[in-house]
Amino acid sequence: MPLPRRHAPVATSGDVLVGIRAIRRRRLTAIILLLTLVPAFLTVDYLVASETAARILIGLWLAAGLTAYFRATLSPCPRCGLLFHTGFISFDLWIRRCPNCRLELR
Ligand SMILES: [Zn+2]
Repeated sequence: MPLPRRHAPVATSGDVLVGIRAIRRRRLTAIILLLTLVPAFLTVDYLVASETAARILIGLWLAAGLTAYFRATLSPCPRCGLLFHTGFISFDLWIRRCPNCRLELR
């Protein structure tokens, strides 16, 4: 009787590793853009005199963050081809393992 595995096998295929790097890069971009939204808002509000220009800049920042978020969460898993960050009911950006094939982001 085989012992249960604690972790899924680590990916070693070149295409899988390239896909994992792309997912990591998209996640990092989304996290940085979304976490810096409030500081960006405060900075723009302080530096830009025009309220309309400030709203446009923050709107562009928010749009970039949301685009990065959806681009990251809708990335396909490089191993199974299904959505990497999509669990049963959520688009979880913090997930470290594919919910479908258990491929880890290591
Ligand atoms: Zn997968």
